[in-house]
Amino acid sequence: MNSLDLMPLRFERLTFPPAQVLVTHDGGDFAFLSQTDFRRLIEDPAELAPDIRDDLLARGFLHDPLAPTTMRITAAQLATRKRFVAEGPSLHICVVTLRCDHACDYCQVSRRGPSAAGFDMSEETARAAVDRIFESPAPSLTIEFQGGEPALAFDRVRQIVTLARERAGTDGRPLTFSMVSTLQRLDHDMLRFCLEHEIALSTSIDGPAALHDRHRRRPDGGAFDATRRALDRAREILGAEAVAAIATITGDALDRPDDVVDAYVDLGFRSVFLRPVAPYGFARRQPGLAPSVAGFIEFYRRALDRCIEHCRAGRHIEEAYAAILLTHILTPFGGGYVDLRSPAGAGHGVLVYNHDGGVYVSDEARMLAANGDHRLRIGDVHTPFRELAGSGTLRALLAAGLAESLPGCWSCAFLPYCGNDPVHHLATQGDPVGHRAFSDHCARHKALFRLLFARIAANDPEVNRIFAAWVGRRQPADLSGNIRLD
Ligand code: SF4
Repeated sequence: MNSLDLMPLRFERLTFPPAQVLVTHDGGDFAFLSQTDFRRLIEDPAELAPDIRDDLLARGFLHDPLAPTTMRITAAQLATRKRFVAEGPSLHICVVTLRCDHACDYCQVSRRGPSAAGFDMSEETARAAVDRIFESPAPSLTIEFQGGEPALAFDRVRQIVTLARERAGTDGRPLTFSMVSTLQRLDHDMLRFCLEHEIALSTSIDGPAALHDRHRRRPDGGAFDATRRALDRAREILGAEAVAAIATITGDALDRPDDVVDAYVDLGFRSVFLRPVAPYGFARRQPGLAPSVAGFIEFYRRALDRCIEHCRAGRHIEEAYAAILLTHILTPFGGGYVDLRSPAGAGHGVLVYNHDGGVYVSDEARMLAANGDHRLRIGDVHTPFRELAGSGTLRALLAAGLAESLPGCWSCAFLPYCGNDPVHHLATQGDPVGHRAFSDHCARHKALFRLLFARIAANDPEVNRIFAAWVGRRQPADLSGNIRLD
């Protein structure tokens, strides 16, 4: 065999037994090695056993100078992973109102009361926002309605959907819609409109009734029961799978991971998205509300196990964030998730059109603006897209959001699957670059990646099947044969 060159790689010593070293490269391939084989790989690959050496050659960690396919394959993998870079923003969030009839303790958007004046998007602003959306060069467009509660300004939703549909008829690009709503104010006509225009609904359910009602408050109480009734109504018209849900995890939920997952199974969901309280809006005023990173990770580990337990018993329930991270790890097609990519998605993958006409680089950026920090407002709905995209703010964010160039990230084994979040670091550290050693975003993601790689390394055939099903959006029972993920 020719002598082999070592390709650039990153590594992480994994502490779960047996002690192994995870190696990754920019193309996204990974391998688990013993300490001895890792040393051989670095010092003299010729010392590796032939099967291990061939495997590392096939995965792009070694390179044969006489058969230079490795570099071409790694370059193709990297190009696929980063293809979103040249595409432009595909997700466009329209904040049609800040009004809401809930008063959640952790409200991230600093909502206003249901009858407050001056917090709805005008017809003219909506029209200009649609003009900007269709100036984006992205190959497909998604318009997401957010609030407040979008159902309280549903006329604006109808206007934007109708205008966008007309434009898409001549534009030719795929166009999809989604809406984040408590569902409770969506009446029969609104739901029929959602059905007709295939508006995907997403709501919030924090777990069983007592947990949900603790922080998601309505003036008359009973938020969980009202959501459950509204969910039934929406499913009757839109179908059983039409509504997704997110669980916002506070410190109160940490000792109840099984109850949170079980509540989703009982409500007939096939997916639960577990996310900790974010440090925006009203949550900033209540520092005790958000769980510590360690507390959240322990909760998450047990919740993930509970999802796996349900799947093993034939009740399909995926944890949606694990499915996203596993897609980043196991396939080169992770760029669709704008909140975890490098360069960061803020402004490059997503734009937000606020109710007052301001244009922001992300949903979190407009949440900062609600607290008086307008640094991430890059223009208004009358600013041409070219000017928005060329703004100095966006260029600065691009530099701060390129994880490959950031201290701490550039040498991290999880880099191919991760991304920086400059808006989060601006909010928490006052600097979009952020310092990884003090970053809860980094600490949480490192722990999540370690958790998932530990499961992959364990090579349990049933867990492999479940993870493959989550990535492929299939049922575990539909996948046959012996599936390996490593
Ligand atoms: S944010 Fe943390 S986990 Fe992600 S690539 Fe950077 S150092 Fe690694």
